[in-house]
Amino acid sequence: MNLSHILNHLGEEREEYYGAVAPPIFQTSNFCFKNVKTMREKLTREMESPFYTRGYNPTVAALRKKIAALEGAEDALVFASGSGAIASAVMSIVKNGDHVICVQKPYSWTSNLISKYLINYGVEHTFVDGTDAANFKNAIKSNTKLIYLESPNSLTFEMQDIEAVVKIAKAHNIVTMIDNSYNSPLNQSPIKMGLDVVVHSASKYLNGHSDVVAGVVCSTRERILKMMSIEYMTIGAIISPHDAWLMMRGLRTLELRANKSSENAAKVVAFLETHPKIEKVLYPFSKNNPQFEIAKKQMKQGGGLLTIILKASEVSQVEQFCDSLKTFLLATSWGGYESLTFPMCALAASRSFENKTMPWNMVRLYIGIEDANLLIDDLKQALEKV
Ligand SMILES: *Cc1c(COP(=O)(O)O)cnc(C)c1O
Repeated sequence: MNLSHILNHLGEEREEYYGAVAPPIFQTSNFCFKNVKTMREKLTREMESPFYTRGYNPTVAALRKKIAALEGAEDALVFASGSGAIASAVMSIVKNGDHVICVQKPYSWTSNLISKYLINYGVEHTFVDGTDAANFKNAIKSNTKLIYLESPNSLTFEMQDIEAVVKIAKAHNIVTMIDNSYNSPLNQSPIKMGLDVVVHSASKYLNGHSDVVAGVVCSTRERILKMMSIEYMTIGAIISPHDAWLMMRGLRTLELRANKSSENAAKVVAFLETHPKIEKVLYPFSKNNPQFEIAKKQMKQGGGLLTIILKASEVSQVEQFCDSLKTFLLATSWGGYESLTFPMCALAASRSFENKTMPWNMVRLYIGIEDANLLIDDLKQALEKV
């Protein structure tokens, strides 16, 4: 389907709401009926038509159509957060006695879901180095139900060869799921490569304006309906009609924003890779990335996230660098219009800092949609202070 049609028109039944160009926000929890017969009929289809907003809301329904089409999926669900979407999707697949293989270093709360939460319900797991697809094959057990990917991850950007992993999973009848947030639906199409379930933190590129926390799950109609009738309705981590509307508004410019963020990031990477104060730049589409070939094979372009390792001898220099940035805001998250910086040394007070995979001189940058020269000048002056 044509991308601009999806973003600007798909799912918007304008003739049903007075020809309003912008969709209405159905800010209602419940819907009423003129007689018991109609109510009874509607109740049998409460996940397909208006009855109660936890199940179906017309504003959310329009958004679901767009999200599904963007990922080339039959259907999609939208949740109140990416973590809510991921937890609901994973829990819809595994049950007591099952085993999950997850790529190592996924998003932190995904890691917690698998290693700290699901174990309470008798679901085992193995984390594997995903840079070699054979590791997934070797970790398969008779009770393996799910292989969970995140390619690339959002800090050090290790990738998995999606087609190779899908082939292994299919041969063993194992469901595959991927967190595609880094790419947005535009730069990588996992369903076309055979993946079963795609999840996103919509708080990042999909909404894109740093004003909504949301998540999505895309899959077959059958899988989505099953998930809806159990996890979606029971756990109830639904998006509000107002947030769904904001997200549709954000989607109008998804292509413009995602492309600008990627183009800017490529320029910033080129600048940083030759800078004497930078030890290393981690970025999927860097020629220095040992996985550059995989990136080219399965992604259209790099995203706006990258990580630098500063040549610094003490933490105070890293702090000096971050504190000196003027355009880059010091904040978590990414995927909005604004450029951001997140230094790993900010984690020093938390337990994850003890993890050696996060060196103290590592700083994640998110490149937004400002002028690339403004961003490069800002980095230049801050690097001089290191
Ligand atoms: C932010 C993020 C999540 C979690 O999404 P929320 O919307 O914050 O709940 C999951 N995966 C990745 C890769 C993320 O960056």
